This record gives sequence, structure tokens and C-alpha cells, in this order.
Amino acid sequence: MKGKVYLVGAGPGDPGLLTLRAVEALRECDVILYDRLVDPAVLRFAGASAQAIPVGKEAGPGSGELQARINEMMLAHALSGKMVCRLKGGDPMVFARGWEEIAFLREHGVEVEVIPGVSSITACASSAVIPLTHRGLSSSVAVITAVDMNGRLLTDLILRNLALNGTVEILMGARRLHEICRALLEAGTDSSLAVAVVEKASTPEERVIMGTLREISELDGFQSPATVIMGPTVGLAMRREEASRSEGYL
Ligand code: SAH
Repeated sequence: MKGKVYLVGAGPGDPGLLTLRAVEALRECDVILYDRLVDPAVLRFAGASAQAIPVGKEAGPGSGELQARINEMMLAHALSGKMVCRLKGGDPMVFARGWEEIAFLREHGVEVEVIPGVSSITACASSAVIPLTHRGLSSSVAVITAVDMNGRLLTDLILRNLALNGTVEILMGARRLHEICRALLEAGTDSSLAVAVVEKASTPEERVIMGTLREISELDGFQSPATVIMGPTVGLAMRREEASRSEGYL
């Protein structure tokens, strides 16, 4: 009999943010393939005889090859009758090649079940206590990756969304944030725009750096994974932090 693949979102980092369905899938599976952004601590929910295989990949050259190997591994285990848990950071349908894996497995007649995860999209904002939307301040959130498939910055897309006065959230942009901020300033973006960088959200090393676009543009060396949030709602959190500091709470 053929096995099955669970494509599981493992949440942003803290194992406490796994869903109950994810824990059930971990318990049930014979083989677990987990990504770089998944904390191996979640493997404590796996059965004693489960085989856990790290398949972390960095973006860039060679990642296509590794993806093909991951696909083949999932397929081989499922065809041999195993229950496979494919664990991805956050939610498997957000910047995670989830669809490619589903399409590949379906093409080979393997059943796939997707278990949603807590995405860093919401987790970074909530963990840093920054609202993504706010009545009267921001009615939309645009989630944007920093670069396209050829490594070109998506500055125009960011600018278009900032022009809508909504919140802009940038994933996979920490390494090039300096360049992004400079490009936004050069294009005439208000230098007092509020920007937050949330590093390692929901983990013990979480760090939130807030400042104006001008201030953040002068910083570098952010710790990965990090998510950038820009817009008027970040200003609320920033002013709150400033007020606490001047009252001596921080
Ligand atoms: N599928 C994932 C996103 C994968 S893309 C999800 O739904 O969360 C990887 C990007 O996600 C990182 O570059 C970073 O921008 C963001 N990210 C993931 N985990 C994070 C964390 N704990 N803290 C901050 N950003 C995180």
C-alpha cells in the first residue's frame, strides 16, 4: 500500500506554536523531512522509531537540485508505504515551494494532506506587538519577498504598496535591507516612515529593532531569519516604546 505525505507548517520557531494537527502528524509519521527554519526541538513529538532527516536549504545556486532530491526522497518513502511528514517553517503555502512539492507528489499518484502552520507573516507582528492593520491607520497588508527569481530587488512592488498607505511586510529581505532602504529613500519615500525589523520571532533570541526609514537604512548585519514591517502601524509600536523608555519602564 502507498503511504501518504503530510505537508506541515511548523510555525515560526517556538515549538509551542505548532498546531495540534502538526503534533498528530509528527506522532503518526515514519519519516520526517524538516527544513532549516524548523527547530529540531519539535522532533520530540515524533514517534520513537521515526526517522528524522534534515533537508535544510539555503536560497541560491544549487537549491533547485536539492529541491529535486527532496521530492525524490518524499516520493520513494511514500511509495514504499511510509507515512511522511514534510515539515516547513511557518506555513507551507507561503514562500515555501509548497505547491511544487504537492504537484510533484500528485503527478506520481501520492496523496498529500496540507496542515496549515502559524506563518511568520502574523507571528512576527504579534510577537513584536506591532499591529498589521489598524482601524483608520492601515487597511491592508502586502507581503512581499525582497528579490525576484533573478536576485533583483523588488523595490517597485514595495513602493507601489507603500503608496497605498497600507502595511508592507518584507520576507527574506534582511540581508539586503540596507540596499532596499536606500532604494526607497532615493525613490522619494518619506524618510520618517516607521520600520521594524523582527529577528528570530518567537524564539528566545527574538530581537525587534524599530526606527525611521532613514535610521534603519544606516544599520546592517541583521540576524536571519528576520522580517521587516513598514508603515503607519509600526509608528504606534515605536511611539509606545519611546514613551515607555522616557517613563523609565524599559
Ligand atoms: N513559510 C514561511 C516563510 C518562508 S520564507 C512562513 O510562513 O513563515 C523565510 C522568511 O520567513 C525569512 O527570510 C523571514 O523573513 C521569515 N521568517 C521565518 N521565520 C521567522 C522568524 N522566526 N522570525 C522572523 N522572520 C521569520
